[in-house]
Amino acid sequence: MRLVTYDAGSGPRAGALRGKAIVDVWKALGGDPPDGPPSVRALLESGRVEDAAAAVAESEGVDIPASDPRLLPPIPDPDKLIGIGLNYRSHAEEAGLDPPATPTFFAKYRNALAAPGAEVALPAASEKVDYEAEVAFVVGRRARDVGEADASAHIAGFTLLNDLSARDLQMATPQWMPGKVFDGSAPCGPALVTPDEAGPSDAIEIELVRNGETMQQASTADLIHPVPALLAYLSGLMTLEPGDVVFTGTPAGVGSLRRPRVWLEPGDELAVVSPQLGRLETRIV
Ligand code: ZN
Repeated sequence: MRLVTYDAGSGPRAGALRGKAIVDVWKALGGDPPDGPPSVRALLESGRVEDAAAAVAESEGVDIPASDPRLLPPIPDPDKLIGIGLNYRSHAEEAGLDPPATPTFFAKYRNALAAPGAEVALPAASEKVDYEAEVAFVVGRRARDVGEADASAHIAGFTLLNDLSARDLQMATPQWMPGKVFDGSAPCGPALVTPDEAGPSDAIEIELVRNGETMQQASTADLIHPVPALLAYLSGLMTLEPGDVVFTGTPAGVGSLRRPRVWLEPGDELAVVSPQLGRLETRIV
């Protein structure tokens, strides 16, 4: 199933893509949750994803054309947005760094999320903004001190994220966060793809295309710390909640390590593309 969040005029709602239509998930399930919003996060918390898949497959007459409602990030309201640094062998190599024995991570906040197709304004505080194509996993069940062998049971699925990074701010201090938190710095989507459709977590391909040119191309087979290891590690440090988004690092080809360097400019058209996860477009303004 490809879960999306869409705004049909009455606020964000959970949907599922079916061809070029969106099926309203909570309507397919027979009604909105008794308390709280009719969101993807509420669906994960309810433990009814499999029910939803069956209901969506059988539902009739509630399709909404996907071209009509505005797609939002699949999880617009996560409790946590966690970014993993230096997690592709190819990227550590181009940066001239040894693969880290322990995952490096940092946070973004909800202000960073941007919808599929959104325009993102370059931040005034930076002159060196870069792209980072990433595969993100979404937590499906609360996870605390979960071992690697049990990790997959806690993962709802995968989506695409562009970890836009202001390199001058990122490198100004030992902590990377100043360069990672600007408004719109986490375009995410288009859909949360459940594992049955996304396939194995170590065989998801991603590509970053800027103005028609491929800048990054890789598979999660190159991850230094694979998805189950990341969930196990993070769940040993804090409780992970349904809907938490963990973006797993970026491969070689970022603009800051190219010669000549490439910085984003107004008018740039970016797309993170994956045969498994879809296409996430962003326009820089
Ligand atoms: Zn990143």
